[in-house]
Amino acid sequence: MQEKWDVLIVGSGNAALCAGISACENGAKTLVIEKADQDMSGGNTKYTAGAMRFVYNGNEDLYPLLENPNDPRIKDTEFGRYTADKFRTDLLNFNDGRALSSEQNALIDESYAAMKWLAGHGVKYDPIYERQSFMKDGKYVFWGGLTLAACNEGVGLFDMELAAYQRLGGTIIYNTAMTSLIVEDGCVCGVNAINEKGESIAIKASSVILACGGFEANSMMRQKYIGPDWDVAKVRGTPHNTGDGLSAAFELDAKEYGLMSGCHATPMDLHMADYGNLNIPHNDRKNYRKICYFLGVMLNANGERFVDEGKDFRNYTYAQFGKAVLEQPGHFAWQIFDSKIFDLFYGEYRFHDAHYIEAKTLEELIKQLDGVDQAQAEKTLIAYNQAIGDGDFDPTIKDGKSTIGLELPKSNWAQKIDKGPFRAYPVTGGITFTYGGLKVSETGCVQNTKDQDIQGLYACGELVGGVFYNGYPGGSGLTSGLVFGRRAGHHASAN
Ligand SMILES: Cc1cc2nc3c(=O)[nH]c(=O)nc-3n(C[C@H](O)[C@H](O)[C@H](O)COP(=O)(O)OP(=O)(O)OC[C@H]3O[C@@H](n4cnc5c(N)ncnc54)[C@H](O)[C@@H]3O)c2cc1C
Repeated sequence: MQEKWDVLIVGSGNAALCAGISACENGAKTLVIEKADQDMSGGNTKYTAGAMRFVYNGNEDLYPLLENPNDPRIKDTEFGRYTADKFRTDLLNFNDGRALSSEQNALIDESYAAMKWLAGHGVKYDPIYERQSFMKDGKYVFWGGLTLAACNEGVGLFDMELAAYQRLGGTIIYNTAMTSLIVEDGCVCGVNAINEKGESIAIKASSVILACGGFEANSMMRQKYIGPDWDVAKVRGTPHNTGDGLSAAFELDAKEYGLMSGCHATPMDLHMADYGNLNIPHNDRKNYRKICYFLGVMLNANGERFVDEGKDFRNYTYAQFGKAVLEQPGHFAWQIFDSKIFDLFYGEYRFHDAHYIEAKTLEELIKQLDGVDQAQAEKTLIAYNQAIGDGDFDPTIKDGKSTIGLELPKSNWAQKIDKGPFRAYPVTGGITFTYGGLKVSETGCVQNTKDQDIQGLYACGELVGGVFYNGYPGGSGLTSGLVFGRRAGHHASAN
């Protein structure tokens, strides 16, 4: 390709397309290159539920974002508010004592304006009635601050963003993988890539924006940065996010930034495929996740519990417990339940492809726990049952019904596991995306280890570090891609 572009964007997910829309809006001649073929383009973005977290101060703020503001349910809906202070608190809860980073402040402060901007480009949303609201006095009442999802979820988000980008004159090519960055006179001015014929090509541009995801699908990088157990992690999304943007930027002395060992990972069915599968409906894909551990206990290969399953609501533990499971001997665990809680199971436990074993007695169940020290498992479960304290079980609140005297307590929702039939679900850890990445300036420019801008190089999306540390409030990943993508596109096009 001989043409010279104003802005070249690597990747075609949410962050890339937001950058592309922003650059085109500024009049830049813009090219997106995507490593995958057309069907697999859109990266992790397509695997999402399209849920996005942002600051809003009441129903009025949401109407301009909605696909169907005349939905008859709207007049009976209380969306509540999700204030900047609440967003701050939610992020701080995962920061392990760190102050909010400048990236986190930008995410919060620019979230609503960015949502409105994207809606102005035709990207519209539906309220998440099913998962984020409940009925109270004849009204739908939303909770938790996560209120809207893109129409038709992640695939819809990608389709709407791509349409907006192309309406503005943006170009996209598939099967083209960036391999390294081209530098002339100290400025990044293009990329080397492999095209669909397997040929090496150089593509020139005034600015390059890296938007090619984290390193969750690269087992070597997972082992290097997250830990030795991580070669075997299941990958919940695309196989293409192999850290290429990070590797290329590090060759130019870009700074590692954020928590490189941090990642979002959840307990998943041990027997799921190694990667996410876009060919099955989102609802089925989601069902490989297994996050009802708070209703029972988890045992590792040594027959021992290893986390406080009732430490907090599952919203605040599920993204960490995937990591805990993966770090157990053999990288697996069994989730053990009795029939008292079967009615409370999420749909994913009733999913046609869910793997589990069932037995009339706990002893029979334990005999079927493959790969587990069964004698120790029996001791652990007997000790657990004997340690259950008083109080009423109530899964809608942190009920304080805990074990007493165990070295590793279960702090809430601790009930005896004593009513047959009993079930055990085998799980492992599935990585969603990585948190560590590059340091970008306020203009989205990538910075080097001397805290200087690398001229002509920008980054956005998963590969921006410092946005998430030891966990993240659901729906913030896409908003981060939007905020930092819009910003990078704007400044790169002015370059
Ligand atoms: C199962 C699942 C559910 C999720 N649900 C949500 C949710 O509901 N809400 C939320 O906020 N977040 C969610 N997330 C997280 C969210 O997916 C990410 O935060 C977000 O999509 C990342 O966007 P991105 O544009 O940075 O990367 P991606 O969307 O992953 O795009 C990166 C693109 O770069 C391409 N690429 C990689 N290397 C190269 C290369 N060398 N050359 C060219 N192209 C390359 C990839 O093929 C890919 O298309 C979910 C993630 C998963 C896996």
